[in-house]
Amino acid sequence: MTTGKKYKFWFATGSQTLYGEKCLKVVAEHSKIMVEGLNKSGALPFEVVLKPTLIDNASIRKTFNDANADEECAGVITWMHTFSPAKSWILGLQEFRKPLLHFHTQFNEAIPYDSIDMDFMNTNQSAHGDREYGHIVSRMGIERKVIVGHWSNPEVHGRIASWMRTAIGIMESSHIRVLRVGDNMRNVAVTEGDKVEAHIKFGWEIDAYNITDIAEYVKAVSQSDINTLVDEYYSKYEIILDGRDADDFKKKVAVQAGIEIGFERFLVEKNYQAIVTNFEMLSGLQQLPGLAIQRLMDKGYGFGGEGDWKTAAMVRLMKIMAAGTPNAKGTSFMEDYTYHLVPGEEGILQAHMLEVCPSIADGKVGIKVNPLSMGQREDPARLVFTSKPGKGIATSLVDMGTRFRLIVNNVECLAQDIPMPKLPVASAFWRPEPNLSTGAEAWILAGGAHHTAFSYDLTAEQMGDWGAAMGIEVVYIDNDTTIRNFKNELRWNAASFR
Ligand code: MN
Repeated sequence: MTTGKKYKFWFATGSQTLYGEKCLKVVAEHSKIMVEGLNKSGALPFEVVLKPTLIDNASIRKTFNDANADEECAGVITWMHTFSPAKSWILGLQEFRKPLLHFHTQFNEAIPYDSIDMDFMNTNQSAHGDREYGHIVSRMGIERKVIVGHWSNPEVHGRIASWMRTAIGIMESSHIRVLRVGDNMRNVAVTEGDKVEAHIKFGWEIDAYNITDIAEYVKAVSQSDINTLVDEYYSKYEIILDGRDADDFKKKVAVQAGIEIGFERFLVEKNYQAIVTNFEMLSGLQQLPGLAIQRLMDKGYGFGGEGDWKTAAMVRLMKIMAAGTPNAKGTSFMEDYTYHLVPGEEGILQAHMLEVCPSIADGKVGIKVNPLSMGQREDPARLVFTSKPGKGIATSLVDMGTRFRLIVNNVECLAQDIPMPKLPVASAFWRPEPNLSTGAEAWILAGGAHHTAFSYDLTAEQMGDWGAAMGIEVVYIDNDTTIRNFKNELRWNAASFR
């Protein structure tokens, strides 16, 4: 999955003319070595581009405005090598509209005890200069990330890499267009929301079409295109007949192939990157889109069930942020279904009626055809699997009436060792932090939905930074959560986000 852009990050070192030309030459040399070091680390998902040292109001303002105008620039990394009077930064920062990282580092790792003198102190004073710069960014109320540590440290590289992905999420959020096929499920509250406010806050374009419009695209798919895709399914996935007639099974699978091709043509032609369906509104379709939606999610499209456009956009956003992660384990739409409440074994069985992304599958993925009580259509084909063990995050974006709230819960997917031979859907089994009872209590107090956007490949910090950049409330549920403090946090946030 690509976003169509080759993003880069600019590196802008701050200084001033007070210490003379010789000092500025050293500053430029150091910055060059540091940027080369960052790029050579192999840890950063995007290239860092060195910009000339910023020394005054005019050069700072021009650099930030050039960054705004450069389509490939996804953010600016700033660092003060020497002191840099921060009033010089006001106009540039005021006009800057992209993600900002304040990299609080310095060229030397160790104090050179034997040779240190005042020249060295004046040239290498980021402990001093970065505080002046940090003050003005805070005073101006500008959202930015601060990362502290030596530029050669692998842990620091990891944090910059992580922030870069958040920055891509901030940049790409406003390119997400959600296709609503029909409306939200009747009478459901949590999947609703203010689409105008979502457009203002996140940049999301959320449009509705009649299901019959997209069904025309499904009907128009040629039999040979369907056959080719069915062949691909049969070579890639295990066919689990469960006693069904093989020919009839294949016909049911072919219906989903037609839906996948037709839906994707519609999405591509009309430039949408996320889609919602609703089992109550299926006119013109033979089956509820199951396998077809699972395949589209695997290709990078966002999805939300029952018209849940907020979760569909979040799944797309998180897939963009996680794209290209080495050894990625997957990102999916998910739903809290059933609890296991046996003491010491607590957890939540995650699934959906059909639509779970196979990117999170552990091992082999199968195809099953089974009846579906909802939707009143023929038995839909779906991909079935269990999910990888490991830590991840579950996120829920809810509309609280006066504001959006993003809830982020650290969860751990546990190995699904006990077979569930009669369960005909994909599933995961996770335990929320800090434990099931506190995690679920906090989730419910926060108004979190039953639908989530889940990823193994992103962190709560990344999603929180994205939410902060969007100007929305973010609450975390993790090992530090206590109900007493969490309830207070919700009260304070209600005052802060009026
Ligand atoms: Mn659902």
